[in-house]
Amino acid sequence: MPSISKENYIKAVYSLCQNDAHSVSTSALATKLNITNAATSDMAKGLSKQGFIKYEKYKGVSLTPKGEKTAIEIIRKHRLWELFLMKSLELGWEEVHSEAEHLEHQTTEFLMNKIDDFLGNPKFDPHGEPIPQKDGTIPNMEAQISLNKSQVGKEYLVKRVNDESKEVMDYFTEIGLNLNSKIKIKNFLKYDNSTIIELNDNVHSFSEKIGKRIFISQLNE
Ligand SMILES: [Zn+2]
Repeated sequence: MPSISKENYIKAVYSLCQNDAHSVSTSALATKLNITNAATSDMAKGLSKQGFIKYEKYKGVSLTPKGEKTAIEIIRKHRLWELFLMKSLELGWEEVHSEAEHLEHQTTEFLMNKIDDFLGNPKFDPHGEPIPQKDGTIPNMEAQISLNKSQVGKEYLVKRVNDESKEVMDYFTEIGLNLNSKIKIKNFLKYDNSTIIELNDNVHSFSEKIGKRIFISQLNE
């Protein structure tokens, strides 16, 4: 089994490749993992030898089928733990991510399958992210856009949030923004790309940065 830092490296390649291309530059990986470019390249060479990634000097890093399988297994553990901690120990949705970051590396497949069954084989985690299933398939999400792409005057439901920043998640909790919260877009400020929304009869301004972390689907009119 790869060590914890290797697992995080594989997970980072997977998530960066989700966002755009099939491969990711070592500098983008270095930024995401908060390590030096040199350390990123060294790790790439090691993981390439072990068959988890493909690394070509000017083309960047991509996952092999073996690497992708490993990434999906780690993500499955992460998301199942988040749901378990929320449902069984009643942790807040803003608290579970950092715990799952540790637990995802320490859990056997046997225990994870037990937790999966215990939770009733759920398809989505507390932040709306799909949970990879036992057979490696990933449940489909309904069509979503980021808040930044919303239209003024329309109503939407919150379908997914990025949970990587505890501060942002704390803020969502504070203002009562949850999955399936109904929001109305009041205005879009062109000078700084912030979005003004109405939520539970209160008006909030979301910066472009926060807007990129919220995914919504339009309510039927
Ligand atoms: Zn998480």
